Amino acid sequence: MVSPINRIRAHVSDELAALTEVAKTLTAPAELPELLDAVLKTIIRVLEQADIGAIMLWDQSEGAFLAAAAAGYNLEILQESRLHAGESITGKVFDEGRARLFNSAEEVALAMENLRPFNRRIVARALGSEALPQASVAAPIIAGEQKFGVLVLETLDSHKQFPPETLAFVQTLADLIALAIDRARSEARAKAAREARQADRMRAEVMAALSHELRMPLATIKGYATALLMDEVQWSDEKRREFLRQIEEACNDMEGMIQDILDTTLIEVNQLRLEYQPLRLVHIAREIASEVRRRSDRHRPVVDFPSTFPIIEADPRWIRQVFRNIVDNAIKYSPNGGLIVIRGEARPADVVISVSDQGVGIPPENLITLFEKYFRVRATSTLHVPGTGLGLPIARAIIEAHGGRIWVKSKVGEGTTVYFTLPRQRPGNGKEQDGQV
Ligand code: ADP
Repeated sequence: MVSPINRIRAHVSDELAALTEVAKTLTAPAELPELLDAVLKTIIRVLEQADIGAIMLWDQSEGAFLAAAAAGYNLEILQESRLHAGESITGKVFDEGRARLFNSAEEVALAMENLRPFNRRIVARALGSEALPQASVAAPIIAGEQKFGVLVLETLDSHKQFPPETLAFVQTLADLIALAIDRARSEARAKAAREARQADRMRAEVMAALSHELRMPLATIKGYATALLMDEVQWSDEKRREFLRQIEEACNDMEGMIQDILDTTLIEVNQLRLEYQPLRLVHIAREIASEVRRRSDRHRPVVDFPSTFPIIEADPRWIRQVFRNIVDNAIKYSPNGGLIVIRGEARPADVVISVSDQGVGIPPENLITLFEKYFRVRATSTLHVPGTGLGLPIARAIIEAHGGRIWVKSKVGEGTTVYFTLPRQRPGNGKEQDGQV
């Protein structure tokens, strides 16, 4: 026969082994929901009397307890429940702030008496049965001043009972869980604070960079305007025209930059609402090519679309902006001029548009970062080309919103080609477009 002292020894060493296992689970490098799920499963495994259980956490914004982990219950269903303060075992144990044992079906039923019908139905659905627990032990999850929730462990077997010493053990488990939650929440708070600080710093840097960029064309405008206003100098007609042309170009640059900033703001606040219309992309390409001819006599635009190019559905305002941003770059980054070829190709499911220039090109290591906001290739910024580093990120946001892709191929010193695709069919619309150019 086992002596009482040996039974206690065996019990203590079981508990120690169980605690070690739970503590080990809690230190695993996982996100809180996975951690809580793993720890609850471990507890159910090591605590012989417990068959099912849940970790219920108080959610201030909901004003209710929500299930954070469940064993034996379907977590997704249990998460639909909203336990109020004082409601059922969870609410009572949380209010009292101490572990409680409910060691008979009657005690459990009494403690669950005020469970609202709505929650009762959810609990039964989550369990897959109307059966009530036959015994239950619950402990508040508290760390210092912070009350997080309740750990509830239950059995459905009427022959099982939780021995009184379980109470202290379950409270220790709940304390371990509280430490893990406390750590995870402080880490999340620290991360949010770090990100907010970084965003602030970034915003300040961006404002400084944008102001600097806007000042460049402004200085050009001011310089030529001042020159034209000088009474003591008589400018020839040719010079006056040249100055005015420079002023016009600087105004275009500023307009483009302000448009980029506005578009980015719209995209950031998720205001990129697409108004789909049947669109002939070749018409947009020709419009943009005429703009190039008006702006520069060194660049020669070529539009190359097959006659069978299909009509697609897209938002003309935003697609025009994509063409403009890409063709603007083709002009800006080919200071010696050259061909700018806008080509269209039709494929079975989509169309591909490409814009090639014979400009300075982009080093391979910068090809991916081009689409990050405010990124500008160092070498090209020394060309004193005005820009915000927003044109390509905007183009990408617009193309992706249409369900397309955008990418760049380039060779330093030879030129750059920007490609983008647009689906022939509007995403979510089964209809095939049948028009042709
Ligand atoms: P921005 O032109 O206003 O600087 P973009 O987002 O349009 O911003 O482009 C980001 C960077 O990519 C540019 O600063 C430039 O360094 C590089 N880039 C874009 N298009 C070209 C091109 N066609 N040729 C060479 N470099 C380019």
